[in-house]
Amino acid sequence: MRKKIIAANWKMNILPSETFKFIENFKNKIMQGTSIEKLKNNEVVFCVPFLNAFSAVAAVQNTDFKIGAQNLNENEKGAYTGEVSADMIVDIGIRYVIIGHSERREIYGETDEIINKKLKSALNKNLVPILCVGEKLTERENNTTKDIISNQLKIALQNINIDDVKNIVIAYEPVWAIGTGKTATKEQAEEICAFIRNFLIDLYGNELKDISILYGGSVNGANAKEIFEMENIDGGLIGGASLKDEFLDIVNAI
Ligand code: PEP
Repeated sequence: MRKKIIAANWKMNILPSETFKFIENFKNKIMQGTSIEKLKNNEVVFCVPFLNAFSAVAAVQNTDFKIGAQNLNENEKGAYTGEVSADMIVDIGIRYVIIGHSERREIYGETDEIINKKLKSALNKNLVPILCVGEKLTERENNTTKDIISNQLKIALQNINIDDVKNIVIAYEPVWAIGTGKTATKEQAEEICAFIRNFLIDLYGNELKDISILYGGSVNGANAKEIFEMENIDGGLIGGASLKDEFLDIVNAI
């Protein structure tokens, strides 16, 4: 069965001192408004800044909620001032890590080759990577969306064996929809998520049919349900709306 996932990407928001209370608050509201059955079958993940991680992990102790990081360094350890390794992330109880977010690609120059190394590093330590792929507006307008995405996937997954690929969550995030309030239509999102699933099946075989594929890009309380109802969409990666009360509606929409 395909796992459904709602992952909050806080980006660089919420102070470490606010984190415990913030998650406690959401957790309690989510548990009131959602059936236990639903929460057992679906994963709710809070991807928080590194400095917030201790408090976040404490806030979800003894629950089914999970904590994710938003990045990691591709090297195991050593002289990498300011960086954080997969071992460090695992050591404090984090389970997920976002890799290849478009903001990291664009602002910090992360290439598909670096993303490939980061994926290997995460998988080596049993972290679940949420691998982000997506096209820019000009690429969509030039009709190259599928080429861009297959290329991103091909390089990111180079020399990663099928058993590891099965543990990756893919997030389709059209760059033009991130933080812009401009959501892809449910048909546009479904088309590309289906393309990704078929691309992975072609590459690795039918065992990849149950990989979780999320949509991300201006999902909110009003549009989440129709997007999550699409056949090949297994949940969402949520930025701005994960900081607001409507995150509850998004979790309930799965
Ligand atoms: C994101 O940051 O991954 C994202 C999808 O942001 P937003 O929901 O704000 O578009």
